[in-house]
Amino acid sequence: MNFTILTIFPEMFSALLVGGGIVKRAIEHQYISVETINIRDFAKDRHRVVDDRPYGGGCGMVMKPEPLAEAIRQAKKKYPEAYTLLLTPQGRIFNQSVAQKLAQCGGVIMVCGRYEGIDERVREHLVDDELSIGDYVLTGGELAAMVVIDTVSRLIPGTLGNEGSARDDSFSTGLLEYPQYTRPRSFEGANVPEVLLSGDHGAIREWRRQASLVRTILNRPDLLMEQPLTRDDIEFMKKLQQDIKTIIGKHSTAS
Ligand code: SAM
Repeated sequence: MNFTILTIFPEMFSALLVGGGIVKRAIEHQYISVETINIRDFAKDRHRVVDDRPYGGGCGMVMKPEPLAEAIRQAKKKYPEAYTLLLTPQGRIFNQSVAQKLAQCGGVIMVCGRYEGIDERVREHLVDDELSIGDYVLTGGELAAMVVIDTVSRLIPGTLGNEGSARDDSFSTGLLEYPQYTRPRSFEGANVPEVLLSGDHGAIREWRRQASLVRTILNRPDLLMEQPLTRDDIEFMKKLQQDIKTIIGKHSTAS
């Protein structure tokens, strides 16, 4: 799968090749390719200017439409099947299910804004979708594009080495992932739960599902509103509710 990034800072994407990370390996094994297009290469003037003052006044600069439009058209010509995304804090929120859909598409072209953003006419006519990586404002779309590349890459078959790794991840199951432990068995007085040492795969599966449910109830109860729950999940949650009621009841009579 190809990611083509339109940016005025193409050098930032060399960060993807640092160290021995999964994205670097995915590029080396050609599961993914990452290309950058410098928007400045499409500026017509001597100084390669890509921004201008906003009509109507106000602070900051706006990315001019002409170089950006030409850069997008060049990327689309090379990758006609690719989906064109604008990174913007105004877009729909990027999450695991958006990442899963992108992992199945025929390539992604990402437009990184800078300054106060891009000319509205480019947004209206030349992009298929707009994505935000969260409700905060970055100085540019490059970090957001790298977040998208990193997240989507690990969903492309082959990139992780072990396909099961992504299957149980937080959000992939609709819940947060269960707690993970590795050696040593005892660390600063805290022990690994016995069930994980038992070799009983059924019991381990059940413990992990219940631990995921508890963690999701505590940290992200909103996820459980969308998620289909099994009969066992409901039974477990009823038992939890009953235990909590009993504990509260005991303390209310004591006080
Ligand atoms: N004035 C714009 C607004 O209020 O919507 C923000 C412009 S921001 C300073 C410059 C660029 O950073 C944007 O064009 C966009 O490409 C990128 N950016 C900023 N925050 C982002 C976010 N949360 N998700 C994705 N891209 C973001």
